[in-house]
Amino acid sequence: MLKTPYYLIDEAKLEKNLKILETVRKKAGVKILLAQKAFSCYATYPLIAKYLDGVTASGLFEAKLGLEEMKGKENHVFNPAFAPEEVKEIVKLCGHVVVNSLSQLKLFKPYAKKTSIGLRVNPHYSEVEVELYNPCSKTSRFGVPREYLSAADLEGVEGLHVHAMCEQGSDVFERTLKVFEEKFGEFLPRMKWVNFGGGHHITKKGYDLKLLIDTLKAFKTRYPKLEVYLEPGEAIALNAGYLVTKVRELLDYGKPLAILDTSAACHMPDVIEMPYRPPLKGSGMPGEKKYSYIFGGPTCLAGDIIGEYSFSKPLKVGQELVFEDMAIYSMVKNNTFNGMPLPSIAIKDSRGKTKIWKEFSYFDFKSRL
Ligand SMILES: *Cc1c(COP(=O)(O)O)cnc(C)c1O
Repeated sequence: MLKTPYYLIDEAKLEKNLKILETVRKKAGVKILLAQKAFSCYATYPLIAKYLDGVTASGLFEAKLGLEEMKGKENHVFNPAFAPEEVKEIVKLCGHVVVNSLSQLKLFKPYAKKTSIGLRVNPHYSEVEVELYNPCSKTSRFGVPREYLSAADLEGVEGLHVHAMCEQGSDVFERTLKVFEEKFGEFLPRMKWVNFGGGHHITKKGYDLKLLIDTLKAFKTRYPKLEVYLEPGEAIALNAGYLVTKVRELLDYGKPLAILDTSAACHMPDVIEMPYRPPLKGSGMPGEKKYSYIFGGPTCLAGDIIGEYSFSKPLKVGQELVFEDMAIYSMVKNNTFNGMPLPSIAIKDSRGKTKIWKEFSYFDFKSRL
C-alpha cells in the first residue's frame, strides 16, 4: 500500500477521454491542445501526445514545461500581461502567442516573423453564472472588446482567440460562436487561425458531441482557410484521477466528524473556491446511508471542510478513502499552508500497474519560503 495522501492518475481513464477528443479532431477537422493549467502531470504527456496536437500555457513556466515535455508538438501560450523582459524567450518557446491587448501586441509585433501572433477578443457574451469564472463580465480584463478594435489594429495578427466558457455544453458553444461571429466575423477572412478556448466539457457524460462536431464543421465551411483550435483543460483529464486519503481521527460532538490526512484548502482548493462536493467512492449523500460524517482536513482553517458523506458501515481510523475526479485543478493548485505535506503522485498505467511518480518532503515546503 502506498503512503497516503496521494493522487493517483489513471491512464486508462485518461486515454478514454483522449479517444473522444481524437474523434472530435478527426470528424470536425480541428486541432485540440491541452490547457496545462488544468493538468500538468507531465508523466502522462507522452500518452496525451499520441492523441492531441500539443499544449497551451498560461505563461512562461508552463510554456517551458510544454516545450520540454510535449516534444515535437505545438506549443501555444496566452497571458493577460506578459512582462516585457519575457518576450524574447516566449517567442523562442512558442509557435503561437496569444496577446490580451493592443499594447501587448506592440511588444510582440517585432517578432511576427518568428511566431504566429493571435489576439484575444472578448465577445461579452457568456453563460457562466459564477462571476469568479466568468471571463466576459462587463469590466473583464480578458480580451479586446469589439468597440475597442478596428481592422487597422490587426496588422501582424494571424489569429483570434476567444475563451468564454466554463464546464459547458456544445449548445452554449453554438450560441457563443454566433455572437463571436456577429462581432468579429468581419476580421476572420484575413486570419490564419482561430482558437475557441477551453471550458468545453467534451468528455462529460451526456455532452452533445454531435452538436459540437456539426457546429465546428459548419464554421469550417464558412471559413475554409482557417485552422481551428480548441484548448480544453478539464475535458482532457476529467474523472481520470483520484486522491487517496486516510481517516486519521473520528470525533462526535453531537455530529460525527472525521479528520482526514488530506486538506481541502491545500490539496483540493476548488472544493472551497468553486465550491463543489468531490465524489467519494462508495459513499452517499448526507443521510442517504446509515452513517454520516463531516470530513475536515488537519489544518487550522475552520472552513477546511470537504463535505458531508454517508456510509452503510461506520468508518474506522486508518481506513482509506478515495476521492474521485482529482486529476484536474488539483495538483496544479496545491499549496503547503500550515506546513501540510504535498500528496505524492502515482500513475496507474493501462495494464493496471501502479507506480509512484513523485514524492515530496519537508524540503519542498521549506524551499518555497
Ligand atoms: C482556463 C482556460 C482554458 C481551459 O479551461 P477548461 O475549463 O479547463 O477547459 C483554456 N484557455 C484559456 C484561455 C483559459 O483561461
